[in-house]
Amino acid sequence: MTASTRVAIVGGGITGLATAAWLELDHGLDDTLVLEAAPAAGGKVRTGLEAGYTLEWGPQGFLDNAPDTLELAAAAGLAGELVKADGAAADRFILRAGRLRRVATSPPAFMASDILPLAGRLRLLGEPFARRRPDHDETVFDFASRRIGRRAAEVLVDAMVTGVFAGDSRKLSLAATFPKMAAMEAEHGSLTRALLAKRREAKRSGRRAGGPAGPGGTLTTFAGGMERLPASLAARLGGRLALERPVESLRRDGRGFVLATPAGELRAEAVLLALEAPGAARLLAPLAPDAVAPLTAIPTAPIAVVMLGYRDPAAFGRPVRGFGFLVPRGEAPGLLGTLYCHDIFPGQAPAGGLFLRVMVGGARAPEAAALPDEALLARVRAGLARVLGADPEPDRLWIVRWERGISQYEVGHLARVAAAETAAAAAGLELAGSPYRGVSVNDCIRQARAAAQRLASRLAST
Ligand SMILES: Cc1cc2nc3c(=O)[nH]c(=O)nc-3n(C[C@H](O)[C@H](O)[C@H](O)COP(=O)(O)OP(=O)(O)OC[C@H]3O[C@@H](n4cnc5c(N)ncnc54)[C@H](O)[C@@H]3O)c2cc1C
Repeated sequence: MTASTRVAIVGGGITGLATAAWLELDHGLDDTLVLEAAPAAGGKVRTGLEAGYTLEWGPQGFLDNAPDTLELAAAAGLAGELVKADGAAADRFILRAGRLRRVATSPPAFMASDILPLAGRLRLLGEPFARRRPDHDETVFDFASRRIGRRAAEVLVDAMVTGVFAGDSRKLSLAATFPKMAAMEAEHGSLTRALLAKRREAKRSGRRAGGPAGPGGTLTTFAGGMERLPASLAARLGGRLALERPVESLRRDGRGFVLATPAGELRAEAVLLALEAPGAARLLAPLAPDAVAPLTAIPTAPIAVVMLGYRDPAAFGRPVRGFGFLVPRGEAPGLLGTLYCHDIFPGQAPAGGLFLRVMVGGARAPEAAALPDEALLARVRAGLARVLGADPEPDRLWIVRWERGISQYEVGHLARVAAAETAAAAAGLELAGSPYRGVSVNDCIRQARAAAQRLASRLAST
């Protein structure tokens, strides 16, 4: 094992791999070693290819509106390998009162739709006159209730939080989870006014305006699935990626650090921890004890991913077309939502069949993610039968479980992150990744770029 390196990156998920790439691309620094505990790099970004199915263990894709991700993909040699969601998957649904309702994309279509009862739809018109924001960190649910009404908060916003965070809108912090929305309210006093301003700006610049959560984008993957990105970054790193090399402890050594692994010790001038929060807390404990409490207070939600293949496209006796559906609180216990992968990325399933990806558990129903396989499958099939009207036998079935699926940015999250970052930085260490400032692949890649900048500055100043 290399006895010394300038930068040690602990964790070879997308954050760690991207940081190593940015160090090289932005700062010309290639004396970096990424230490990864598992036998393969990529962390939650993992793809299986089996019997014509592309099995995404973690992310299904990323939105193509993040320039950093596109730049990194290009540097990894994947610019020509991007696959965008098919137009056939444009329709999205939300389960309400036991039925799937299509999410309208224009305000007139929304007002004419059945996504909310009439009173709930009309309440949205009052958005510009909502109460002013409170001074404290507000939950996503309270924010949405205040601005667009309780019904919209319970259905639309709860579903959105379920889709992105597998989270509980009544616990998550608006400022941490949807910072753009918080900024829009702060700047324009109203989301409606902010959206109109965005539209005008988009018209002037010829770009797409997007929705209240941020600029629009199209779900995108790579030919062969999401793992192509970490695999390509890992290939670029070559010997600068050490697999099956868990870092067990960290200590100071003069102006640098010593990382202990089962294969021996490694000296590094600068260290980034690109780990889940509990792992970071464990390594930081001796060097930055003040970081431990805030990191330990960042919970994660478990997720089970159940993937089902059906050869018969009419297996449910009705068309299963579109992007899929999300499940707000109280609608189908334990189910978070279902992606119609055969329509989103038709190349990811055998032609002519159905390929569903059902997410189970999350912060609202963690016990459902831990059900034994048989009970989990029974829950999923009962939910699909209720929503899609039949319970056909799947021809193929895969189950993937993430005990610590997605970090939950509960109220007070940004203060906890700031406290952890400050304590770590005072000890000379950096943090980045999904526990902190965005869980999406795009967010991790953006955080990685900022972390590379901080690491480079640290090296320049020592
Ligand atoms: C089911 C699911 C679906 C998702 N869907 C989407 C989606 O569609 N779009 C999207 O953008 N995002 C999605 N996400 C979120 C996104 O995939 C993750 O937030 C992101 O991949 C996390 O990357 P990371 O590098 O921060 O952490 P991780 O991927 O958790 O990587 C951390 C790495 O550190 C390693 N490690 C741990 N301890 C040690 C140690 N002591 N020493 C060395 N290495 C160690 C681990 O083995 C791991 O490889 C999804 C997540 C899940 C679970």
